[in-house]
Amino acid sequence: MQNLSGSVQTNHPLPSYLDATHLGPWGNYLQQVDRVTPYLGSLARWVETLKRPKRILVVDVPIEMDNGTIAHFEGYRVQHNLSRGPGKGGVRFHQDVTLSEVMALSAWMSIKNAAVNVPYGGAKGGIRVDPKKLSMGELERLTRRYTSEIGLLIGPSKDIPAPDVNTNGQIMAWMMDTYSMNVGATATGVVTGKPVDLGGSLGRVEATGRGVFTVGVEAAKLTGLPIEGARLAVQGFGNVGGTAAKLFADAGAKVVAVQDHTGTLFNSNGLDVPALLAHVKATGGVGGFAGADTISNEDFWGVDCEILIPAALEGQITKDNAGKIKAKMVIEGANGPTTTEADDILHDKGVLVLPDVIANAGGVTVSYFEWVQDFSSFFWSEDEINARLVRIMQEAFAGVWKVAQEHKVSLRTATFIVACQRILHAREMRGLYP
Ligand code: NAD
Repeated sequence: MQNLSGSVQTNHPLPSYLDATHLGPWGNYLQQVDRVTPYLGSLARWVETLKRPKRILVVDVPIEMDNGTIAHFEGYRVQHNLSRGPGKGGVRFHQDVTLSEVMALSAWMSIKNAAVNVPYGGAKGGIRVDPKKLSMGELERLTRRYTSEIGLLIGPSKDIPAPDVNTNGQIMAWMMDTYSMNVGATATGVVTGKPVDLGGSLGRVEATGRGVFTVGVEAAKLTGLPIEGARLAVQGFGNVGGTAAKLFADAGAKVVAVQDHTGTLFNSNGLDVPALLAHVKATGGVGGFAGADTISNEDFWGVDCEILIPAALEGQITKDNAGKIKAKMVIEGANGPTTTEADDILHDKGVLVLPDVIANAGGVTVSYFEWVQDFSSFFWSEDEINARLVRIMQEAFAGVWKVAQEHKVSLRTATFIVACQRILHAREMRGLYP
């Protein structure tokens, strides 16, 4: 049973799946909320609402495989908090997806959306599946059946999914089509991250990486770290890591190490990022790229660099490898890549951590633009989108930086202070129904 001090609820045991004592992403998130509670003033009365997802839907997703057998997959959609608007958050297809993970990811979406002040609550979804083992037909049937099953919860003004790990524009197109078929009208605004020809937004694919780059540049200015010549190590070379690496390289930084699920590359002179992106597109991973040495996955963490960008999965920087990190700055492209223990180790070492809940908010910010464009059926230019994105990220980061200085807390706690105040203030103004 978790510590409920400072909250309204004191005498009702939590359901087992909400237990903070279990390790993993949800436990990590609860520890982050506990850290912020002392800074919430009278709003701390409402903090329990952040520790309980509003709705959890677990669905069975049966599909016919190409060989005629029937396979069952477990799917989830969690709406963590809807106080500030409809649910918003991605859908992940991965063999290790669990309810605990989806709950944590949905909660981080609540925090992130409030941190950049877009009018959404937090939600997330996923299917426990290795999509790389499915044919295109199986992947489409899986996506469509999952979308129908979570149709109870999603909708353009209720909950709007988007891409996450192993999901992309094609999957969003199938989700949009399935939902539209079920309601009998084309509803482009039900998902974001769609192809541009289906109501998607220019700039959405690169938006998260662009946001990572933007906050990195802002923090570098504030701490006197030159980007030109800075050495970068990037874990995860997909949508987020690949785009961030490209933008930093374009700005004169040297990407010296890259790791993904196929291996770890190192080149002290800097990797040729466009060539590596082309290699990943052609082969599915960084492994086998000619322009670098291969090093062990463990050695990745001790590479000499100024900036480290985890952009793969959660729980990657742990108490076991945090001590090895030589970077001055960690920019969290991934959601939840740093455990609470590792966060403390990095803090004690003087490493500046730009937390996920602000650093990777660029994606949801442009998702918000996409949703607004879909509702108004009026589409903006890419320059306009990028300029608005950069402005929102810069303003949100400056606000968080100021709170961190005022309270002498980490940027993570500062972001949680800003976000939790917004969410709980909305909760308080709405009041409890009935
Ligand atoms: P992606 O599927 O495009 O890329 C994932 C990358 O992680 C790939 O390079 C993959 O090889 C790598 N990876 C997977 N398992 C790994 C392992 N065990 N070790 C090392 N690398 C591994 O996914 P993405 O959209 O780039 O998402 C990456 C992270 O960013 C996730 O945590 C996601 O939640 C977060 N994120 C994504 C977005 C977005 O808009 N796509 C927005 C915010 C946050």
